[in-house]
Parts: sequence; C-alpha cells; structure tokens
Amino acid sequence: MTPRKVPRILVLGGGYVGLYAAMALRKRLGRREAAIVVVDPRSYMTYQPFLPEAAAGNLEPRHVVVPLRRTLKGCTILSGRVTRLEHANRVAEVTPLEGEPYRVSYDHVVTSLGAVARTLPIPGLAEFGLGFKQIEEAIALRNAVLGKMEAASSVWDPALRRRLLTFTFVGGGFAGIEALGEVEDMARNACKDFDSIRPEDLRFVLIEAMGRILPEVGEELGGYALEQLRARGIDLKLNTRLESCVGGHIETSDGDRFESDTLVWTAGVKANPALNVTDLPLDERGRVRTNAQLQVVDADGQVIEGAWAAGDNAAVPDLTGEPGALCGPTAQHAVRQGRHLGANLARHILGEPLEEYRHANLGTVASLGLYKGVAQTFGIKLRGPLAWFMHRTYHMWAMPTLNRKVRIILDWTTALLFRREMVALGSFSSPRAEFVAAAAGDQPRHQ
Ligand SMILES: Cc1cc2nc3c(=O)[nH]c(=O)nc-3n(C[C@H](O)[C@H](O)[C@H](O)COP(=O)(O)OP(=O)(O)OC[C@H]3O[C@@H](n4cnc5c(N)ncnc54)[C@H](O)[C@@H]3O)c2cc1C
Repeated sequence: MTPRKVPRILVLGGGYVGLYAAMALRKRLGRREAAIVVVDPRSYMTYQPFLPEAAAGNLEPRHVVVPLRRTLKGCTILSGRVTRLEHANRVAEVTPLEGEPYRVSYDHVVTSLGAVARTLPIPGLAEFGLGFKQIEEAIALRNAVLGKMEAASSVWDPALRRRLLTFTFVGGGFAGIEALGEVEDMARNACKDFDSIRPEDLRFVLIEAMGRILPEVGEELGGYALEQLRARGIDLKLNTRLESCVGGHIETSDGDRFESDTLVWTAGVKANPALNVTDLPLDERGRVRTNAQLQVVDADGQVIEGAWAAGDNAAVPDLTGEPGALCGPTAQHAVRQGRHLGANLARHILGEPLEEYRHANLGTVASLGLYKGVAQTFGIKLRGPLAWFMHRTYHMWAMPTLNRKVRIILDWTTALLFRREMVALGSFSSPRAEFVAAAAGDQPRHQ
C-alpha cells in the first residue's frame, strides 16, 4: 500500500462491528484525517437474525446482506483474510481471494472478526453437518429441505423416504430454534405442492443437551416455545446429546438411533480462531479483552495502544451488570459497540476524551415461523402473532441501510399477496454438471 500521510485504521472483519465502526469513523473523520481500510473475505455484512427467514423463503437471500463497497463510501475494502497480525510492528498480513499474501501497515487496528460455530469431536459431524451462520448455509438448508422433499415424493421405499424426510437440528438456542421453527413451517406449507407427502410424513428432530430451549427469553417463554413446537409434532429431545452422525446415521445419548439426511449444527459459537494469528493477548476463551472504552487491554488491564475490539470476538465489560460481568455475543451489543468504538477511536485521533460503553439489554424477540413468536422486553412478555409482529418490526428497524429496509418490506408484502416460493435450486452448487455430462455425451459411441 502507498506511504501514509494520515493515520491508517485497519478494520479486521466487515460484519456488524466492522461495518458500524467504519461508518462511525467516516462520519467523524474526513479523508484527510484518517484512511480506513476494511479487510473481509466477504464483500458484504450479513444480518444474521434474518437468516432463518431467508432459509424459509420469506426473504430473498441477497436482501439480508449489506454490500460493503456501496455502504462504506470513502473506505478501502480489501477482499481477503487477515492471516497474521504483528501489532508490535503495526503490520498485518492479508491473504487475498486470489494471489500471494501482502502486508499492510497501520496506526490503529480494530479486531471485529466475530465468532465461528463451536463444534465438538463427534464422529461424522465435520463431514455431514451443516452450520447456520452464513447466508450460503441458509440457502443450502432451504435447498436441502425442498430437494429432499422432491426426492422423497418419487420414492416408494419407506425407509429411504423416512430418511429423506427426517431433518435434525442440534442446539436449542436462538439460531437453532428460529431456524427449526421457520424451516418446519415452510416444509409443512410445501406439502401442499406434493400429492405424495403429507405433513405427518415429515419428521423434525431437535437435540438439546440442556433441559430447556431459548434460555435468552427466560423460563416462561422458553416453556411456551417448547409447547408450541411440540404441538406442531416436532420431536424435542431435551437433556440429550448427539453422539454420532456418520453418513446420516444419528445416535443420541438417550439410546435413540435413526437415519436423517439433513443435520444442522447450531450448538453455540466461540470467538474466531483467526485471533490466534495475532500477537494480541487473549483470554481463556480465546477472546480479546477490552476496557469499557473498547480499547484492547492485557490480563492486568493495561491498554495496548492502537488496538481496539468489540463484538463476538471480544470480552467487553458490561457496566450495567454485576461487577466483572461481560456483554453477551449478540447483535444488539455488536451494533452499538461498533458505533461506540468508531466514535471513541475518532475522539482519540482528535485528542478528545473517550466515553465508556454502557447498554442495558432491551429484551429479546424470536420467531417460531409465520405469525408465531415469543418476545420479552422491558419486563413485558408476549407470545403468538403479536410477538412475531414485534420480532419483524424490531429487525426491520435494526436492519442497516434504507435500501435493505425497503427491499425487506417489499419481500414481506409480496409474501402476503402470493404464496412463498418453494422451488429448490440445489443444482446451484454444481452448475457445470449438466455441461460436463453433455460434453461427455459427445464421445463417439463404441461399437
Ligand atoms: C442465525 C443467527 C441468528 C441470530 N439472531 C440474533 C438475534 O435475533 N438477536 C441478536 O442480538 N443476535 C443474534 N445473533 C447474533 C449476532 O448475529 C452476532 O452477535 C453478531 O453478528 C456479532 O457481530 P460481529 O461483528 O462480532 O461478528 P460478525 O457479524 O459475524 O462479523 C465478523 C466478520 O469477520 C469476517 N472474518 C472472519 N474471519 C476473517 C478473517 N480471517 N479475516 C478477515 N475477516 C474475517 C467475517 O466474514 C464477518 O464478516 C444471531 C446469530 C445467528 C448466527
């Protein structure tokens, strides 16, 4: 990169924190005051709370992501991964999508690398499971469910049909329950298009190691969600662990054995292990520690000059909780921390005093499918269509950029007027297959 005349801020990761921090920085600092460089292998930020609706076909997948280049005008976007960070020398190594790694020097670094799925060494999981954190995974899940229904509709072997129509989800937190609720709702609705598949033929299974689901909304609403999902015929295995899933043969700790062609893993997240390539001090859970000003600190609380962090990859003090409490890995914090971090870093560069991050939880909303949901906010508990409406209203308000808000409203309006789209485009993942087969067919026939 070119020699610097102005301080360069390097933002690692363009998700919630990266996007909002860069926007806040650009708003406060002109191009002559700071250069902002964002590194991410994806060219977009993903609004993860909408992934279940994208998987269910209520929303067009492209509308739940925010393009970084268009949104972060005046910032440089590098498409690649950070593969090394020598903060002592203020240099990062970036490995682009194509070509050799190169080095980028900086004055301030923002680590906003988020989290990755927390997996366990369960036989078959790495080969067979599907995660649910990225838009590609939401599209793949939708195509898998509709594709298995297509396949089952023309199969008469009962064992194979049962295997194709059994969908297993592991993890009863937010992501797992919302994905399960939305996708089951879609699959039941899709049965109308198949004369050989009845809703009773579908088997949805949830495996959860604890004795409850949705701990985020509290015991009462979690219990309500549990009853609702049970009433829909979903097989909820609580206090149960997945022990093996080799080739789709599922074995659980309650002794159950069954075949399932689809397994979705949503059993928690951990800080992005990409932090291990940095020389920043990490806590026992692999996160960067920060103070309330969102500056990176060492184990003794000493500020590491020029390093800033927030979001799922950071241990940020929660000043509204008990002493020593940390903010949870939620979008609610990530958005606000991103903005706060950007503002504080701008203050630092302009020589102004920094402010502490403080945000009391606004509550929680979760969707369980069309017109179904639970919500808990400011002590008020809601369930059913009202909670579902609140879920949509809140996320509409929180979705970044007017462009995306309008597209989402149009998607929802279209879905009210017409039935949702039920086409499985599974061949997207192998677009050359047909051409390769055609080319192979060109071979001269042997006599
Ligand atoms: C399905 C689902 C539903 C959710 N629903 C809710 C909800 O309803 N409410 C709520 O509050 N929270 C919800 N969350 C949690 C919320 O989405 C996260 O807390 C939030 O995304 C964290 O923001 P972040 O910026 O820390 O990380 P992210 O938004 O994940 O951003 C991390 C970025 O780092 C990039 N990156 C990764 N590795 C590298 C690398 N080596 N180099 C460069 N860049 C890299 C990634 O591509 C990504 O863009 C949900 C999460 C999921 C998965």
